[in-house]
Formats: sequence, structure tokens, C-alpha cells
Amino acid sequence: MDEAERTRRAQAGRRAAEELAARGVSAVAVTWVDTSGVTRVKAVPSSRLEHAAAWGVGMSPAFDFCMVDDSILKGRFAAGPVGDLRMHPDADRLAVLAALPGWAWAPADRYGLDGERHPHDGRGLARRAVERLAADGYGVRASFEIEWALSAGHGDEFVPACSGPAYGMTRLMEQADYLRDVLDAVTASGVAVDQIHPEYASGQYEISVAASDPVAAADTVVLVRETIRAVSHRHGLRATFAPMVLADGVGNGAHVHISLWRDGLNLMAGGDGRYGLTQPGESFAAGVLSRLPALLAIGAPSAASYLRLIPFHWAGAFACWGWENREAALRLVTGAAGDGARAANFEIKSFDGAANPYLVMAGVLAAGHAGLGEKAVLPEPVDVNPAKLGPEHGIAALPSSLEEAVRALESDDALEEALGEAMVRTICLVRRGEAALFDGAGEEEVVARTRWIH
Ligand code: GLU
Ligand code: MG
Repeated sequence: MDEAERTRRAQAGRRAAEELAARGVSAVAVTWVDTSGVTRVKAVPSSRLEHAAAWGVGMSPAFDFCMVDDSILKGRFAAGPVGDLRMHPDADRLAVLAALPGWAWAPADRYGLDGERHPHDGRGLARRAVERLAADGYGVRASFEIEWALSAGHGDEFVPACSGPAYGMTRLMEQADYLRDVLDAVTASGVAVDQIHPEYASGQYEISVAASDPVAAADTVVLVRETIRAVSHRHGLRATFAPMVLADGVGNGAHVHISLWRDGLNLMAGGDGRYGLTQPGESFAAGVLSRLPALLAIGAPSAASYLRLIPFHWAGAFACWGWENREAALRLVTGAAGDGARAANFEIKSFDGAANPYLVMAGVLAAGHAGLGEKAVLPEPVDVNPAKLGPEHGIAALPSSLEEAVRALESDDALEEALGEAMVRTICLVRRGEAALFDGAGEEEVVARTRWIH
């Protein structure tokens, strides 16, 4: 970090601290998301924000090697007990947390003591991927859908907090005060909500937020999840974004909506390709589709992810694409006739709520960028449930285990170049560590041990 950047951050921190003081906000939670998708935190008093923004807050780099059970792995890029890094709250993205009175939140940018970006800084990697696309004239708009399961009480058993049917008005009525409080708290923290509704699985709800710049989209998913968690707690409820909550149920997805733009135009619409795709729009999507097995090591990072990622669950278990096909890994959304230029996007359905959203963005943008460079072409679209197609159609199932996804990531040069060797090796190390952690565990046990972590 150079002097000018440090000064800029200090000024932003001072302005934010003044505003917080005026609003009676005493503390700022500074979060980052680790390799296993856990949001971790250090907090500073608001009066310390200016200093923290400029110089960072100390944190052990060992947490990048942490697994979901909080044990820390050793490896080539692992720091062990020695060393430190600095977490700089990004005061430009600060939000006052309506659900936690007196608290604000800011995402961290992570630097080494030498002032260089830390190689495991997912937010920095996502930003770099955005900048690389921008250098070629492309912009991206993205959002994460947020599904969560809501349990009555604070206990470890999952007790669905509603009993009405999927998408049922009964479910909304059962938790009307709570859902209104979620909506109000998320909106008050500066997030534009598109919709909120009861989902399909037992006790499940969903909130959709407006698309934005990819880094902002990753920040937003952290902010919204922690807001939902806080509102739930206050209502005597427990929320989880874990991939699976009950072994035999439908899971929580964290679908990514993504569109490529150039000169203010949405390249997922208005072209002469299939369903109006432009050539770059198609190539970007094809780059993502061809790398989905490797991207699963990032977007479906938990042993529990592979209990969710199965056919007939609308989870995107097949490496194919299709117009409005909810069983395809890539669902092309064109919007209502006349609205395509604004609304068209690809939804990546295979990812879940255990994923680090910054790494997801970094990986997806890198994959799409590689597709642009290759002028990649999408295969034939699939307009039926791919699970019902015979092998002669050549539609591959996506990896069905962490090990399979890790092997795909290890052999993907484009992703390694984009994310850096230290990040990719660490992702693989942590995934293998977690695979070993759950080796021999039955489905019920995997679900029980991962239910409340994300
Ligand atoms: N809950 C499903 C999943 O695991 C997705 C349902 C939907 O299409 O929204 O991804
Ligand atoms: Mg949904």
C-alpha cells in the first residue's frame, strides 16, 4: 500500500468515524471470509476506525488454513503460529448494522506487514479480476441469491420455524414480524432488496438483492447474511446458510447471477447468438461452464455441499446450460420480453452458502475472462431435466465429492494464474483437510457437524 492510498484510507476512515459518532455507533465489526467460507471478525471502537483504515488491525495469517472445526492445517504456504497480517476496514463500504444497535460493519482488505496485498486476500483477488476485465473493456454485474433455513430456538437440532407449504403464504404469515424485520434491517444497512419469500425446503426462506459490481456483491452477501443471523437471534430463532440442514432435504444454494457488459450494454442480450447472446457474452459463459468442475472447489467447498448438489433438487448438478432450466448448472435468464437489455444474465446454480463469496467472484470472473480469450462457444442448450438424458447426450455430471473438485482445480492453469499459486494450493489443502475430517462420516453426521457454521 503506497502513501497516497494510506492517506486516502485514513481520510475515508475519519469521515466514517465522525458519522458513526454522530449516530451513536460505538464499534465496527471488521470481517473477512476464510478459505472454508467462515466469516471471521475483529472489532474496533469507532474512534479507532481512522487508524485501523490506514494501518490495519493485526490478525494471524494462520486462519487462512483453518477448517470448519477451527483446527488449523499445516502446509507449504501455511504460516503456523509465526507472522501477522493487517486487516484494513474499507470505510467506503461501511454500513451501520440496524440489527445490532450501536454496531457498524466494514469488510477488510488484507495486506502483509510489507504493505503488499496478502496472497490470501479474497477481496483483493476479486477486485483484481474486475480490473483485468476492465482493462479489456468489460464490466460485470453480479448478485448472490441468499437462501437460509430458519430454526425455532437456539438449539443444535434443526426445528423448522414454519410449517406451511413451499412458497406458501402461510409461511410468510407464520414469520411475518421476523421477515419484516429482516427486510427493514437489510434495507436500512443500504442494500437494495429485490424480493423476499418462503422457499421450498423445510423452514427455508430467501432474499434476493439487486445486482452490482462483483466486489460489492460479495460484500453484500456477507452483510445480508450477518444481518439475517442477528435478526433471527433477536427473534429467538437460529438461521443458517449451510448447504444442507437435514440430510434428506433440499439445501441452501447461493446462486450467482452474472452479466457481462461493454460500453453500457448488456452482452447477455441483443446479440445474434442463441436466445440473443452476443459472442463475448457466450464466450464468457462458456469459460465458466467449462471450468465448473474446478470452480466447485471454490463454490461448493464443504463435504456437505455434495449432499446438496444432486439431481432433482434444482441445485445445478449437471455441466450444461439451458434457457430458464433450473436443473442446469448455468440457467440463462432473459427476463420478460422487452426487458432483456437490463435483465439478461446467467445464473450459476451449483454454488452454495458455504462458499467464500470473494473467491467465488475471483474464480468466476477469471473463468469467464479465459473464455473470452479463447472465444469459447457454448454447447447445445438443454431444455429438459438433464438427469433424464441418457449418456449418448454427453451431459456430464459435475463432481460429486470434494476430492474430484480439487483435482479439477489443480489441473486448471487459468484459475491458478488468476488466483495465484498460494491461494489455489491453500484452497486444495483446506478442501482435502475437510474431506479427511469427514472421512467415514455418514450423511446425518456430516450435516449435523456443518449445520451451524455458515
Ligand atoms: N434450494 C435450491 C438449491 O439448493 C435452489 C432452489 C431454487 O431454484 O431457488 O440451490
Ligand atoms: Mg431459491
